Amino acid sequence: MRPRLYSGIPSFRIILSQSGCVVHIHSKRNGRCLNRWSTFYVQEDRSAQGQVSAHDGVNWNGLWKLRIHERYKVLIWRIATGILPTKVNLALKLGSGDTLCPLCSEYDESIEHIFFHCAISRAIWFGNSWAVYSNHLTFSSCKDIINIICDPSLPSGMSMDGKMLKEQTAIQFAITLDVIWNLRNQVIHNDHKINLMATIKLLESRIMEHVLSLKEPGSLEVRGCVVWEAPPIGVIKINVDAAIYLDKSFMAAVARDYKGELIKAWAKTTVYKDPTIAEADAICWALELAKTEKFEKISIESDAKVCVDALLSPTDDCPWKIRTFTSLALELAVYFSVCSFYWVKRDANHMADAMAKVAHSLCLPFCCSQETLPPSVKEAWLRDVFLLSS
Ligand SMILES: [Zn+2]
Repeated sequence: MRPRLYSGIPSFRIILSQSGCVVHIHSKRNGRCLNRWSTFYVQEDRSAQGQVSAHDGVNWNGLWKLRIHERYKVLIWRIATGILPTKVNLALKLGSGDTLCPLCSEYDESIEHIFFHCAISRAIWFGNSWAVYSNHLTFSSCKDIINIICDPSLPSGMSMDGKMLKEQTAIQFAITLDVIWNLRNQVIHNDHKINLMATIKLLESRIMEHVLSLKEPGSLEVRGCVVWEAPPIGVIKINVDAAIYLDKSFMAAVARDYKGELIKAWAKTTVYKDPTIAEADAICWALELAKTEKFEKISIESDAKVCVDALLSPTDDCPWKIRTFTSLALELAVYFSVCSFYWVKRDANHMADAMAKVAHSLCLPFCCSQETLPPSVKEAWLRDVFLLSS
């Protein structure tokens, strides 16, 4: 495909790949190439973006300054500059082609349609806690999305800190756009069956995680805590882990409340010898346990980053071996009014780790309360309680 120079960003050359999914960014200075997840040159060129804003009235600087993950900024930028490879854009570029929206199969897939007017997208915008009527948003051009995200009009007389509300609005908009685009790609490339409830739950948990991460400077990636943290009041946190001992695999789950009090701890075997699959199985099992226990608001923590990443962004690069468990976990998540997934470092998952390691010596399946914890697990629990209060 022929490279074309995009005039809005003078110092970049944008090449749409044949797959239609990757934007390569070449720096004119050294000609190096980055894929769409890379952000160095985008950040490097913020001054150029400022020059753009001076003459086209678009707050590019506001976009790059947002405290959201760089991948969301790149997606918004692609939407705003109109280069996102929707079917309409690809057909225009190629001269012909299927333009039907993959989500509703009723209208042409333009940028405005896929993100704001499509029935599926509208349901996603409206279905989450913020209940946005996306078809009421009006645009004279794709660039208007930047001003809606960076300078949302807020109701007068609100009690909440305006800056914080603006940040949360930006996060909500950015992640909603990302979830819609990922869903669309999943439908096109993987024949994904749309599950609106699961999509909306996933969206809410990602928004919540991003909002929470703002309170912890420098941790926008994922909250990689090193000590166990208590969940908010009303939420039950379940830490999970898996361990392999003498060619057998074991899973453990530990449920605690906002005070760090133990509600229950469980252990059992799993048939999966692959550590990653066993960890994914443990997450699903924890969700089933929570359902049986009739917990309403839960937070699942695992130290298996690949499993949590797959849950937080299930449409992107999810390893095939855990895809079934990832889908099952997202389906189970729908049962809860709040369900979040977090990756934590092993030190913050100490109690579940201790439970999984001792599981081989227990009569399985095993379930216990605070009073009947195995000694090594009790020690781990007391350590968490001590660190919580210190
Ligand atoms: Zn549609």
